[in-house]
Amino acid sequence: MDVYEVECDCGQRLSVELHEAGTRKNCPGCRGTVIVPDTVKLKQAAGDPYPLLSARQKIRWTLEAGEPPFDGRCHNGCQRPAALETQCRLEILEQRIVDDDQNGVFPTITGDLSFRAAATEEQWTTLFVPLWLCESCQQQFRRDRKRARWFSFCKHVGLLGIFGAFIAWVVVDPEQVAAMAGLFSVIGAVAWMAQFRLNRQECPATARYVRRIRWMSEFLDSEDEYRLTPARAKRKT
Ligand SMILES: [Zn+2]
Ligand SMILES: [Zn+2]
Repeated sequence: MDVYEVECDCGQRLSVELHEAGTRKNCPGCRGTVIVPDTVKLKQAAGDPYPLLSARQKIRWTLEAGEPPFDGRCHNGCQRPAALETQCRLEILEQRIVDDDQNGVFPTITGDLSFRAAATEEQWTTLFVPLWLCESCQQQFRRDRKRARWFSFCKHVGLLGIFGAFIAWVVVDPEQVAAMAGLFSVIGAVAWMAQFRLNRQECPATARYVRRIRWMSEFLDSEDEYRLTPARAKRKT
């Protein structure tokens, strides 16, 4: 994340946010007023060579031009030359056209909830972002991914266990389960809606490393829905 600063006439440096561009701030040093410059000037002062491009454009441009952050150095910020490359496939949802607005959860005459999913058409764009790491950061990355996979495995086993216990309960005491059917349908409705919130499919470890590439965090945050999948690491030539 870039840090934005303005300097007061008295020499005091004030850190500012991008949205404060053009506003006045009070200097804690001399109590004077400092005018924060416009967004472009702030970005330039923070070392951004392309203040007018979006984060997505900056990544594409610097990747094509071989400029930082794609100048061959490790993306983990260690300043060592990168030795390995992991191509990360980034699929971004550009737009989703819904034909039917009758989408969602509706009460029925009997008082239950029913779900209707409308026909949708989606437009995805696929980009490839190379994650460049030096030998030692690559090893760390591999360990982090292994840990993330293990964590996700345990979570799934846990969920399976809960489901198994529920099935056993149904077999042992079907009457009580039937009495609580209303509660279960509410839980089901919540779970069903929750799946629509899973709009970012990514391995947490991979996402953490990819977000260390300059502008990548900003870029991903601006996208509502995406999938990020890493390929096998290859030695950089
Ligand atoms: Zn001052
Ligand atoms: Zn490194």
